[in-house]
Amino acid sequence: MRKRLVAGNWKMNFTPSTARDFINANKQNLASADADVVLCVPYISLQAAMDAAEGSGIKIGAQNMHYMDKGEYTGEISAEMLAAMGVTHVIIGHSERRERFSETDTTVNLKLLKALEHGLTPIICVGESKRQRNEERTSAVLRKQINFALDEVQAADMGKIIIAYEPIWAIGKGAQPATIEQAEEACAIVRKQVAKLKGDSAAEYVRILYGGSVNPANAKELFAQPNIDGGLVGGASTQPTFNQVIHCG
Ligand code: PEP
Repeated sequence: MRKRLVAGNWKMNFTPSTARDFINANKQNLASADADVVLCVPYISLQAAMDAAEGSGIKIGAQNMHYMDKGEYTGEISAEMLAAMGVTHVIIGHSERRERFSETDTTVNLKLLKALEHGLTPIICVGESKRQRNEERTSAVLRKQINFALDEVQAADMGKIIIAYEPIWAIGKGAQPATIEQAEEACAIVRKQVAKLKGDSAAEYVRILYGGSVNPANAKELFAQPNIDGGLVGGASTQPTFNQVIHCG
């Protein structure tokens, strides 16, 4: 019932011309999958990526946005600006932004509401640190992040929101992915919390992704779990093998 979605988070990689080259070289394969494919690219490469992806069905997203429409926010980009360009998705609350750029649960909520107002599909990231997991606080951390993020969101809007469970300890070069059981268990906790806050039917249709060292070897089993509707993929989405993640079965 929920269509698989695989989103690539390119982070601070790819100039406009290398983004164009990557998409041109891979778009036929990427677009032929039975999944929604989104590439979240640096601001500066959004236009080139959209031009290259045009007509392929691949959607282009940003990796962040500000929660105000305009004003004295030097260096920031608003949801209105992204939507005006034709960007469709935006990552909000990635752990790298929470940890290094002062993103909080409150700003995540403000950004989510603003993204919806402008017709963007927010990809909301939640996830626990290693320490929180070791202290058996994963469930409490996830429930708190979801409570904040979804404050004032209408149940009917849950189909326009994507949630990515990304354990912080599983992200990035050299990290170990969560086990299949850990990933499924956490995504089930997220879905249960959505049900508690917004009702069973909202929880049935909201798409929940797993992110953290997804690669061609583990994607199939991860994406086959009942509560995992696809992936948010960092490093592997910048490689031609991203095709194998998307076509994993
Ligand atoms: C990410 O940063 O969103 C991510 C999932 O990274 P990686 O796949 O490289 O662990």
